[in-house]
Amino acid sequence: MAQPINIFWFRRDLRLDDNVGFYEALKSDCPVMPIFIFDSDILETLPQDDARVTFIFETLQKMRDVLQKEHDSSIAIMHGKPITIFKELVNQYTISTVYANHDYEPYAKKRDEDVKIFLNAYNIALNTYKDQVIFEKSEVVKNDGDPYVVYTPYMKIWKEKFNTSYNLNIYHTNNYLKNLVKKTDLPNLSLSDIGFKKSSQSIADYNVTSTLIQDYQSTRNFPAKNATSRLGPHLRFGTVSIRKIIKKAITEHNETFWQELIWREFFMQILWHFPHTVNQSFKPKYDRIVWRNNEKEFEAWCKGKTGYPLVDAGMRQLNETGFMHNRVRMVTGSFLCKHLLIDWRWGEAYFAEKLHDYDMASNVGNWQWVAGCGVDAAPYFRIFNPTSQIEKFDKNSDYIKRWVPDFQELSYPKPIVDHKMARERCLQVYKSALNN
Ligand code: FAD
Repeated sequence: MAQPINIFWFRRDLRLDDNVGFYEALKSDCPVMPIFIFDSDILETLPQDDARVTFIFETLQKMRDVLQKEHDSSIAIMHGKPITIFKELVNQYTISTVYANHDYEPYAKKRDEDVKIFLNAYNIALNTYKDQVIFEKSEVVKNDGDPYVVYTPYMKIWKEKFNTSYNLNIYHTNNYLKNLVKKTDLPNLSLSDIGFKKSSQSIADYNVTSTLIQDYQSTRNFPAKNATSRLGPHLRFGTVSIRKIIKKAITEHNETFWQELIWREFFMQILWHFPHTVNQSFKPKYDRIVWRNNEKEFEAWCKGKTGYPLVDAGMRQLNETGFMHNRVRMVTGSFLCKHLLIDWRWGEAYFAEKLHDYDMASNVGNWQWVAGCGVDAAPYFRIFNPTSQIEKFDKNSDYIKRWVPDFQELSYPKPIVDHKMARERCLQVYKSALNN
């Protein structure tokens, strides 16, 4: 019988160091073959030039290079449905255990459950680990075991637990990389093999310099300043470890920055406990709102042609770069749901397609926050005024000028809706849905 191996299955944890599941696999007693599966079920929903697919592809190639050049090993890169790939792998190798990190989205939970059942039938265990968060699932809950649905008490308990009982370990894999399967010619693919092409957009590096973190509180709300970390896609795809980032936030003593990272975990545990919120309002009454869903207005919003410069700047930044500043996400989101009375799910889907940092838990959670229908959401009568937001956060119109250079020209569209009228209309529609 061939020598048994263990498999480490990379998913949204694309880094070689400080990766819990990878570390545990390497410490096991069989040589480890790393794999990555381009899941055909996920890929078929994405545009051909998706920047995130390019990013994943290029990151994997860099990781393969390191393993080939420095460790006489590689990563097997495959394409198909995970179950089909595992069927091939069990035929080809004697596998002892498959290692991976936890993945909390509803699709991933089901996928992992199916793979586990399949592997168990061959007496192969699927061992999974917490890696992408500090606290997961029910680790931060109320005394009676119920999840927190309000951020502040969640954040307080999160911090208390972190300060009293969390061991902030860094999982150094370097000493164990010698346990990789010694084979450099593991299968590889090109972008075109999986039906994609290189995107013209690229994913920005992250910035967690001491200056950025120290100034974060005073600068983060101004979209013209490049003053946020751009960690989103790196946390999403795991090209950076959350433990290293938290360590940095603590060293720099910046509570605000730290708390933003806790918002991420707050929404993750909400999605874990309430998976139906992917397409239903957390507050069921809000699903009675009669949305106008005007397609022309939706198109104007998507293209950044609403006639409201801050909204248009945000949408154009998103379309051109795959990023939009958080303050402007709130303004554009609120404008869609409240000024135009378009269903938050439409906006959520558009952001999901375009954002490089798209993450289901954060996107759904924040969209429901904006629409007023989610956990700890903005009250429905809080309607951002897209013009006074400019005075507060883009006083000299630097951000607007950058993304909407035509905003003072005659060709620039007239506002597609009157602010005052839209505000009143929104209040009426929300009120009648909620009071019914
Ligand atoms: P920084 O300001 O540098 O923050 C650091 C990190 O903290 C972020 O990378 C993120 O992981 C976390 N974080 C910050 N704010 C939030 C927040 N409100 N909710 C959850 N996590 C947060 N964030 C996503 O990661 N993916 C999404 O799909 C997403 N969709 C959003 C949709 C709407 C309508 C809104 C209003 C916000 C959304 N956010 C989303 C939250 C936030 O806008 C982004 O995390 C942030 O702008 C990313 O830029 P950054 O990495 O420079 O963030």
